[in-house]
This record gives sequence, structure tokens and C-alpha cells, in this order.
Amino acid sequence: MVFNKTTGQILIRLSKGEELIENLTKFCQKHGIKTAQVMGIGAVLWADIGHYDLSKKEYLYKKYEHTMELTSLLGNVSEKDGKPYLHLHVNISDKDGKTYGGHLKEAVCAGTIEIFLTPIETTLNRRFDNETGLALWDLSSAK
Ligand code: ZN
Repeated sequence: MVFNKTTGQILIRLSKGEELIENLTKFCQKHGIKTAQVMGIGAVLWADIGHYDLSKKEYLYKKYEHTMELTSLLGNVSEKDGKPYLHLHVNISDKDGKTYGGHLKEAVCAGTIEIFLTPIETTLNRRFDNETGLALWDLSSAK
């Protein structure tokens, strides 16, 4: 992973074999980024993508084990249990242009992943919500 912080946004490039969420989480921890917007594109060697089953209150994951274009990476950074939590959604496409998408559990970079990380000057915590079974944004925590 290489990065450049000379602009208001942080530009990050992942290299082949690097895990996306693991590396971004470590980056946010190391640089004290508590809240941020995430946007990117690239390609992945594999991706584990989920769909949330609201009645079962659990994610159902499917692993795509082929090299795919990362046509869209969108999400945010907030805090959960005092640590950076990356909530990322992706669209990935195969050689025929067929696209799959959902909640990202993890993905590994193929040729490159290019990311704009835009820190926001606030702290945004997550709080467990019984009704959905999800750790939702606690907007009262934003200062
Ligand atoms: Zn999600």
C-alpha cells in the first residue's frame, strides 16, 4: 500500500495480493482517522460479498474466486468498539461484464485498487440495534 496525503483527500493505492479491508482498517488506526468517506475502483483476485437477511439478522456471504473488475467501491469509516470500522459496498464484474454487488466482507487486490479516502472531522460511533441486529450509526455521537 502506498499513499499521498498532500491534498484534503488521501490517495491510496493497493498492490496485488493486499487485502482491502484489513489494510484500510490498519491505515485508519495508524493515522487516527475515525470518520471518513471511501470511494474507489480497481480489480480484485477474489471478493467475499454479503447480503443481509433481515429476518435472520445475519449476513449471507458468497465468495467470488475469480479476478474481477472492482467497478465501484463506496462506503464509510466510523468507530465501533473504539476501533475504526469500515462499512464498504462493492460492485464487481466478470469478463462478460456481468456484475455482482453487496456488502463487502473482504477482497484482495489484483492489478490495483485506487482509493480516495476523505477524512471528516468528527467522531461517529456505532451502536447495536436490537430491531435490525446491526450496529447502526449513532448520530448523537457525532461531534
Ligand atoms: Zn453493508
